[in-house]
Amino acid sequence: MTDTIFAPASGFGRAAVAVIRISGPGAASCLTALTGGPPPLPRRLSLRQLRDPGTGEVLDRALVVWLPGPATFTGEDSAELHLHGGAAVRAAVLRVLGRLPGLAPAEPGAFTRRAFLNGRMDLTAVEGLADLIDAETEAQRRQAMRQLDGALGRLVEAWRDTLLGVLAGAEAALDFSDEGDVDESALSASGLAAAARVRDAILAALAEGRRGERLREGFVVVLAGPPNAGKSTLLNALARREAAIVSPIPGTTRDAIEVRCDLDGLPVLLVDTAGLRDEGADPIEAEGMARSRRRIEEADLVLWLVPPEGGAAAPTGALVVHTKRDLGRDLGGADGALAISALTGEGLAMLLDRVAAAAGAALGRGDAVVTRERQRRALEECAAHLGRAIGGAETMPAELVAEDLRLAVRALGAVAGRVGVEEMLDRLFSSFCIGK
Ligand code: GDP
Repeated sequence: MTDTIFAPASGFGRAAVAVIRISGPGAASCLTALTGGPPPLPRRLSLRQLRDPGTGEVLDRALVVWLPGPATFTGEDSAELHLHGGAAVRAAVLRVLGRLPGLAPAEPGAFTRRAFLNGRMDLTAVEGLADLIDAETEAQRRQAMRQLDGALGRLVEAWRDTLLGVLAGAEAALDFSDEGDVDESALSASGLAAAARVRDAILAALAEGRRGERLREGFVVVLAGPPNAGKSTLLNALARREAAIVSPIPGTTRDAIEVRCDLDGLPVLLVDTAGLRDEGADPIEAEGMARSRRRIEEADLVLWLVPPEGGAAAPTGALVVHTKRDLGRDLGGADGALAISALTGEGLAMLLDRVAAAAGAALGRGDAVVTRERQRRALEECAAHLGRAIGGAETMPAELVAEDLRLAVRALGAVAGRVGVEEMLDRLFSSFCIGK
């Protein structure tokens, strides 16, 4: 990995400033080629004229910063060019950079990948960084920031440290057992207690359930009910309440339209489904209804919309919402059901409050440390091996106890990206932006 990479690090389009990032052994000579002088003082923004070294033509007057490694984001020598943010300026500088010897445009996530490979970040921090860039709501931002700061990474490191100590003890016991001491068990009393402490801590983190994962993905609210209940109209009415909406997603399939919104800082995904009715559906509608039923099963909350003329019974657990209140029929609401009118807006604020409360209860306001299925699986694996080692400490052959401890340590190593991660690195880093 001796080439030097470069990429725009700021967004595309017209802007006041565009940042180009450079990382690798050629960063200093790249600055020299562009500015015609030695690199400026480290870590200071300095004003320089940037020229095409081939023609001498001035490309831009820019702020440049020289960041000698290893105390940089990637761990390598790095530089940044803060250009005027026009498309032509950026294109001209990128073109010139591409012609410099040893320089190559960066793949998505290439800078972060180097940071990881150079030990500047562990895998949980990399995931936190990816989530931070994708964060759309306050709760997502906070969770991502905690993880980037190492909330999970530090815990896992401490657990791994403890288990390495226990494992060392077990291996020493194995060596001595050659000397015919048949009573020797693999785990000393203190080793057993330490392993149990780690296992309990892991189980406690896992007991948070998928709260952290849900927060990344959003709380899924499905709008369901008979055809013409007013589902699409309600979704549109909610989508127009600007305060609530982050980004409408055009329907990916004919049968579901999704709108992402930010309710009190919590990410909520509203999903409109094809109407459900009991009979008379043609094959296409039947397929739409089958998909709706699947969506309802996977939902965190179902809003069951009932039009004035009534409809099928609500699925259990659904929040019943009587629609078209403006048509004048008073439906009471003694059953805790809501009554709304998407037309006049009546009841919509209360409906959003109820959804926000349900999302708040499910996502929680506390700090979940496990935010991805990958992390959860590795921790579950670790806890299972620890359980076996602890349970079998007295009865299993010492070699097997030690092997379970080794596998437990390995599973923790996988969380931080120390082992067995090659195949997932490509997938993870390809989800990053170019320039990150
Ligand atoms: P969906 O099939 O459940 O998505 O129902 P639609 O949203 O398409 O609504 C069916 C019909 O009911 C349309 O003609 C809407 O204009 C009407 N509608 C929906 N919401 C209201 C409402 O709050 N008040 C009134 N008066 N009509 C509504």
